[in-house]
Amino acid sequence: MDGADFDLVVAGAGGGLVAALRAAELGATVLVVDADEHFTRGNNTSMCTAMIPAAGTRWQHDAGVDDSVERFVADIEHKTEGTADRTLARALARASAPLVTWLADEQALDLELVTDFRYPGHSADRCHTITGRHGSRLLRHLVRRAHDHPAIEVIAPMSLESVHTTDGAVSGVDIATPDGNREKVSTSSVLLATNGFGADPNLVRRWIPEIAEAEYHGGRFSRGDALRIGAELGADVGYLDAYQGHAALSARSRTLVGWATVLHGGIIVNVEGTRFAAESGGYSEFAAILAAQPEAKGWIVVDQHIENLCMAFDDFRAVSDDGSLVRADTAEDLAARLDLPANALENELDAARRSALGQEPDRQGRTDERHPLAAPYVAIAITPALFHTQGGLAVDEHARVLAEGAPIPGLYASGGAATGVSGHGASGYLAGNGLIAALGLAYLAAEHVGRTHSA
Ligand SMILES: Cc1cc2nc3c(=O)[nH]c(=O)nc-3n(C[C@H](O)[C@H](O)[C@H](O)COP(=O)(O)OP(=O)(O)OC[C@H]3O[C@@H](n4cnc5c(N)ncnc54)[C@H](O)[C@@H]3O)c2cc1C
Repeated sequence: MDGADFDLVVAGAGGGLVAALRAAELGATVLVVDADEHFTRGNNTSMCTAMIPAAGTRWQHDAGVDDSVERFVADIEHKTEGTADRTLARALARASAPLVTWLADEQALDLELVTDFRYPGHSADRCHTITGRHGSRLLRHLVRRAHDHPAIEVIAPMSLESVHTTDGAVSGVDIATPDGNREKVSTSSVLLATNGFGADPNLVRRWIPEIAEAEYHGGRFSRGDALRIGAELGADVGYLDAYQGHAALSARSRTLVGWATVLHGGIIVNVEGTRFAAESGGYSEFAAILAAQPEAKGWIVVDQHIENLCMAFDDFRAVSDDGSLVRADTAEDLAARLDLPANALENELDAARRSALGQEPDRQGRTDERHPLAAPYVAIAITPALFHTQGGLAVDEHARVLAEGAPIPGLYASGGAATGVSGHGASGYLAGNGLIAALGLAYLAAEHVGRTHSA
């Protein structure tokens, strides 16, 4: 559009591909670089559960779900106790329905609304997903679309090293291969979609010490590159203590067991065979709670009914296939197999069943409607994990990176590279906040690039 090598350079082929596809659709030429030659199975988007929250969509309408932008924003505010960036939350909630509509109609992604369970904090069914509920399918689809588009070039492995400005506006980038071959590319727009800093233990220890000892389960190139590149340009940062934790990673295979287990009615016990918190809170905050338990480990206990429901997830099927499920006909038998005190476990399972049936208050204050567990039981050993960090470069409602509160012309950030809408710590993370920031900010950035160039 303006004589540069590319109209837009996208660093990071995860959620960043949405920006590439949308900008190309609006007439831009786009270069996508990814540092990881195995990004299609290594980055966070490829690892995720593909739950994309969106409010006011046609899928919701068809299912009779009452939802709105205001309601979505209110849920974000409630989960973050009012600490999330309201402007950003509003911008993402507003973009959410156009985003999923565009993914379905223009990018031929076969989306469906999740109605069989609801993540804590969402007051309406608003997670949209794909068959298999796995990010690898989502990412492969986006990669195929990008490869097929004549205006998009994808190069991997290739790192974005730095961004240059002329008179304060983006004018080019340095990119480099792993063996150090550097190249300059001229462009007037750059999207940093390089995720956060979860893979850098020093940064995690510095900003989020409460989860520093937990397993990291995310892309290995989430090294904080956006923070470093942004710092060179004087960018503002925010919410660096925010993160998505997860308490339900299989201790055996390091595959996601998934929180649907718990939301359908499963309970979590520690090495003493007892429950220790209301599982109906978010999986993100439960990671640090589990990490603080003896030996920092636990077991999710479900039954056959819940096991069947969770088979909708590729990940859960993988957990089942890899032998992580421990089966037992009675609580006593289960305790023996898990090497837990039988009396404690039996007592917990009996009490949990009574509270699920509404016969007595729950010992941990759990109030959600759920299936009462019944023998035979199924248990999975779990370990707490950090999935990704949610703080990063400060951005406005167009995903423009800010420096001292004003946009740096031509510089954008999305996903884990940008400040998200999860407030501080782990508990503000509402399921879907990862992808709505990754795909939504990428979409908003592309729209802004398109408008800027056609003006
Ligand atoms: C198991 C799991 C399940 C999850 N489920 C969900 C879910 O259902 N819903 C949800 O909303 N969120 C979910 N999340 C979170 C979600 O995956 C992330 O928030 C989101 O995918 C982040 O997207 P991204 O584009 O920021 O980063 P990524 O998808 O990680 O992409 C970043 C890319 O940037 C590349 N890169 C890094 N540095 C550079 C550089 N300097 N130059 C070039 N390339 C670079 C990396 O190699 C990587 O490919 C889940 C996470 C995990 C781990």
